[in-house]
Amino acid sequence: MSDAYDLIVVGGGPGGYVAAIRASQLGMRTALVEREHLGGICLNWGCIPTKALLRASEINHLLHTLDAYGFAADNPRFDFQEVIKRSRQVATQLSGGVKHLLKKNRVTVVDGHGALAGPRTVHVTKDGRDVATLTAPHIILATGARARVLPGIEPDGRLIWTYREAMLPPVMPKSLLVIGSGAIGIEFASFYADMGAKVTVVEVMDRILPVEDEEISAFVHKAFIRQGMTVLTGATVKRVAKTAAGAAVTVEEKGGKVSEIAVEVVISAVGIVGNVENIGLEGTEVKVDRTHVVTDGLCRTGEPGVYAIGDLTGPPWLAHKASHEGVLCVEAITGKNEVHPIDVTRIPGCTYCRPQVASVGLTEAAARAKGHEVRVGRFPLIGNGKAIALGEPEGLIKTVFDASTGELLGAHMVGPEVTEMIQGYAIARTAELTEAELIHTVFPHPTLSEAMHESVLDAYGRVIHI
Ligand SMILES: Cc1cc2nc3c(=O)[nH]c(=O)nc-3n(C[C@H](O)[C@H](O)[C@H](O)COP(=O)(O)OP(=O)(O)OC[C@H]3O[C@@H](n4cnc5c(N)ncnc54)[C@H](O)[C@@H]3O)c2cc1C
Repeated sequence: MSDAYDLIVVGGGPGGYVAAIRASQLGMRTALVEREHLGGICLNWGCIPTKALLRASEINHLLHTLDAYGFAADNPRFDFQEVIKRSRQVATQLSGGVKHLLKKNRVTVVDGHGALAGPRTVHVTKDGRDVATLTAPHIILATGARARVLPGIEPDGRLIWTYREAMLPPVMPKSLLVIGSGAIGIEFASFYADMGAKVTVVEVMDRILPVEDEEISAFVHKAFIRQGMTVLTGATVKRVAKTAAGAAVTVEEKGGKVSEIAVEVVISAVGIVGNVENIGLEGTEVKVDRTHVVTDGLCRTGEPGVYAIGDLTGPPWLAHKASHEGVLCVEAITGKNEVHPIDVTRIPGCTYCRPQVASVGLTEAAARAKGHEVRVGRFPLIGNGKAIALGEPEGLIKTVFDASTGELLGAHMVGPEVTEMIQGYAIARTAELTEAELIHTVFPHPTLSEAMHESVLDAYGRVIHI
């Protein structure tokens, strides 16, 4: 098979498949090369299956707190393999949906491993055999990323898991230790804790969820402690040794205290590295910086006609960032639409632990570090009628404004369904709204979103319900 296209996309994750569909909509003859599963990490091993798991742990938590609502359920229990099976079924359903969408949009899907092979050319192989040589004036690399490995603590799939094994456990572990407290580590910590495991989180930085606002990190830390988790910050895992019952994990805390923690399994969630190997970058002008392809605001690499999007290009490692870049990149190539380089301060980030965390824009510390004089609003969900009615009043909404212009610089939320609500503030950031429009916006009652309004009011000394 040898064929000429207008665009070749290498990698069928939320970056690649969205780019391919948009290109086809814009009239480009498009080929997509995918070596494993359409939908990429997100649909198969990331966003979607974890949310199916977290739905199960949320239900388990609810079943164990039913008395607060006047119900009784004797001895609620679950079939762990059914929980895992449902998560895999959800992933399979969505991956199948992507296949259908690509077909509907007349994108040619090529099954195999793609690599640049000279100007305008992608060579595709499968199990060592040649599959196709494709040519196009434009090539988008969307090969994604994989789990970073700590030297000496290499995942073996049995005692030390990456996110892949953590999604397919053979049995429900009674105890586990999570190394790393970014979104991925914290979601697994929350899932296993709510399913009944004894969970320890070890984070090398001085707080968990280190990219979030400090107050939000502190809020989640306290919530996790109340839930019975052990959270060690400023701590380093030195060694994982195999024992008869699982693992003995040596942890060194701030100040030099060394302890040994016995667990059944360890989840390593210490970051992400880009899939830059074996994609034909050698001999090209594509630059790689610490495992990520360097691009400009329109996703162009240093090699004419070669673009890169999504996790391959570095943080934030988020599916919606990958998809947005896919559309932006294709629209810039065709020149048919006005495009704006991506602004990371307008990309919301969500962590689906209990309580949920969501944010957009600058933290208070980052805003101050950038020289802004800030006004800060805070509203605790204990002052929100809907949160109390739901029985979930644990939460905080924090807003950060530029004191002189009133621009909303950042919003930081912890509490029920904040991952659904953050979009309100994301729109405010994109539209460059100030406190004036937000104050004059009417929020429906009773909703959790009223707390978003109250946080803005608080920043300007007008809060009503605290
Ligand atoms: C456990 C977990 C939970 C997550 N939860 C969320 C979340 O809730 N929200 C969120 O926004 N993000 C989440 N993410 C991150 C999200 O999955 C990624 O940001 C997203 O998948 C990146 O999309 P991508 O298209 O850049 O890459 P990927 O999704 O990694 O897709 C890349 C694709 O390229 C294929 N590929 C690689 N090399 C080649 C090659 N040479 N030839 C052909 N094909 C190739 C791969 O098989 C893969 O299908 C999560 C990640 C993990 C691991």
